[in-house]
Formats: sequence, C-alpha cells, structure tokens
Amino acid sequence: MHAEIELLEGDRLRVRDLDSDNGIVLIRQGREFPIKQEVVLLNDTLRFGEVALAVRDVIEILKNAVQPAAAAHAVTPAPVAGAKGFVRCGCGMVKVRGDPCPTCGE
Ligand SMILES: [Zn+2]
Repeated sequence: MHAEIELLEGDRLRVRDLDSDNGIVLIRQGREFPIKQEVVLLNDTLRFGEVALAVRDVIEILKNAVQPAAAAHAVTPAPVAGAKGFVRCGCGMVKVRGDPCPTCGE
C-alpha cells in the first residue's frame, strides 16, 4: 500500500494515494468513493485494496504512536456512574441509579 496518512486536529485524517495499484476507497455512510486525496472523518472507513480500516482505528493507532503519554491516559478506565451508584432494575438489568434502564426503559 502506498498511501500517506496525516493526523489532523479534530479527529480527522488527510489521506493521499501515492501511486498505489488499487487506489484508496473511502466508505462513508455505506457508499464507496474512490479517492486520491481527501480529508476523512472519524466515522468513515478506508479500503486499501483488500484491507478495510476504520478511520477511528487509524486515528487511535496514530495517536498512540505520537503521544504515548496520552495513550496511556486513554486506557485508564473512566469513572463509572460516579457517586450515583448502581441499582438492580425490575427487569433484572443493572442500571445507573436515577437513570432510565437501557433494557426496559423503567
Ligand atoms: Zn429494566
């Protein structure tokens, strides 16, 4: 694969096809667009020949590569539910106290 990928601010990527055989296909909202040079977004997917990569994953890889400190911070588990705590809903699901149940909506 001959492509150049540059991480931009705001979770965007600039992708440039450098004379690859298969080119790059941008998959956005289920549609495919062959591209030569394009700025792609977090929810897009890129296909390089047979290989499809979620832009989200590419951004994650690039961020980990250039900012190891930030990457280490990113894998720290986020605080869950804060001081609210969990309760067992009538349907059997564990839910955040005071919030609607994700399963039954109670
Ligand atoms: Zn429930």
